[in-house]
Amino acid sequence: MNRRALQESEERFRQLVNNIDEVFILRTTAPYRYVYISPAVENVFGLTADEAIADPALFLSFTHPDDAEFVRKTMEEAGRAERVEVEYRIIRSNGQVRWVWTRYQQVEVAPGDPPLVAVVVTDITAQKDAHRAEASARAEAVRANAAKTEFLSRMSHELRTPMNAILGFAQLLRMDELNEDQHESVRQIIHGGRHLLDLINEVLDISRIDSGELALSIESVLVSDVLDEVMDLVVPLVATRNLTVLMPVGDVCHEHVLADRQRFKQVLLNLVANAIKYNRNDGEIRLSCSTRPNGEFAITVSDTGIGIGSEELKRLFTPFDRLGRESTGEEGTGVGLALSQRLIQLMSGRIEVASAPRVGSSFTVLLPLVKTVGPQPDEQGSPTAGAVSSTATPLVRHSQLSVVYIEDNLANVRLMEQIVARRREVTLIHAMHGRLGLDLISSSQPGLILLDLHLPDMSGEEVLRRLQAEVTTKDIPTVVVSADASPGQIRRILEMGASGYLTKPFDVEELLRWFDDPHGMEGTAP
Ligand code: ADP
Repeated sequence: MNRRALQESEERFRQLVNNIDEVFILRTTAPYRYVYISPAVENVFGLTADEAIADPALFLSFTHPDDAEFVRKTMEEAGRAERVEVEYRIIRSNGQVRWVWTRYQQVEVAPGDPPLVAVVVTDITAQKDAHRAEASARAEAVRANAAKTEFLSRMSHELRTPMNAILGFAQLLRMDELNEDQHESVRQIIHGGRHLLDLINEVLDISRIDSGELALSIESVLVSDVLDEVMDLVVPLVATRNLTVLMPVGDVCHEHVLADRQRFKQVLLNLVANAIKYNRNDGEIRLSCSTRPNGEFAITVSDTGIGIGSEELKRLFTPFDRLGRESTGEEGTGVGLALSQRLIQLMSGRIEVASAPRVGSSFTVLLPLVKTVGPQPDEQGSPTAGAVSSTATPLVRHSQLSVVYIEDNLANVRLMEQIVARRREVTLIHAMHGRLGLDLISSSQPGLILLDLHLPDMSGEEVLRRLQAEVTTKDIPTVVVSADASPGQIRRILEMGASGYLTKPFDVEELLRWFDDPHGMEGTAP
């Protein structure tokens, strides 16, 4: 390259460096001296290139005091390593704090000469601000979500506790001699209470799914079993509308899908209940199963009811949207389908809908099919069938039973006293505190322990742990009675050794079964 060409190339390079936003610096390693600093330094640092070159110490003093030590070490390293990158803060001459990203790289300028360090400084304040805003928005969203979940779980607990008294006392009243009007009033209380309870459960489930807190236990589930259970539950409803139920032909539903059994049943129950509610009198409900070529198993619930228009279909899975059916007199919350869809999606499945107004609707649940080889565990000599028939004859015990109930809510204690009053053979000993309860249990050796989890002095879990750790108390059946209905909590308490778990508001009949046969009921918990 001749001299002129060299000058031209150097000029182009200088122009480039002078016009970029990044600050370009060339410096020696030791002694510390700036050879070149591009004019962009003025924009970033607030001092001119000449000022910076004249006084390296002044230039370096722009580094934020909190980052100074770390930058000094990095610069030393830059004298040894080939390439170093660092992010730090500077304070401009006007006091403004800015973030810079700096890259140091050793460069050979002329053979034999000591290498220089080329430094590129980029102002990254805008990116940093954006990241910080994003991180704080994310943290805020996480905090808000946690607060929402906490709020809902508290709300649900607070609502369930009085519901326990309402439903419990109403169930007790129903067992008394009542005239027709009184009977109807009690029926309305129980009906309204259960409706409210369903709503609390559904809203809580949706919120748990939305915050990623709902844990499912996915297993291989025999579809025909679940369908049979669902149909058993809806027999009375079907009769009220004189509907014809067409069950699947042959063994088409005798297949296994991957699902959470309890939640799968909940979804099918919701679809069948809707097929009944939104049907016409004397209509039909048809259940069918089929395998799709892509390995999905389809369970379809069809009805001959009012159907859903194409515009309404778009809002079908929106929580609380009842598509204007509020006036039909059919009860509902408008949350069931929204929850069903989320549950099935969590099981890696989906729900398809086809509907025509005044003709009927078809809801199809699609879930991954389990390819089975040979007989499945629940097809071999069904152990559960034996268990069911052995408890089918109610056990009537007349031997004395003493029950220790550890509970601090007085309304619940009154309710329990009233229930116990119906069983002459049962004596109730009550303790408000965990410690007193433990003492009473050791001294009286009751036949059954009922345990609330929220106690003033220690948690019910701690009481349970101590009962299990003691030889004299570990075999006494202990039933936890709590408003916390989360499946994870129930599983954990049962794993800790509780014999049963009653969710407030509990079913009085179920509690009475515990009184009738505390040991026989063990292991029948949800
Ligand atoms: P709801 O508690 O109101 O039954 P869902 O979430 O189960 O709530 O259903 C939402 C709405 O979708 C219902 O209010 C109803 O308008 C409509 N719907 C659901 N299933 C059917 C059906 N099989 N036929 C007609 N409309 C239905």
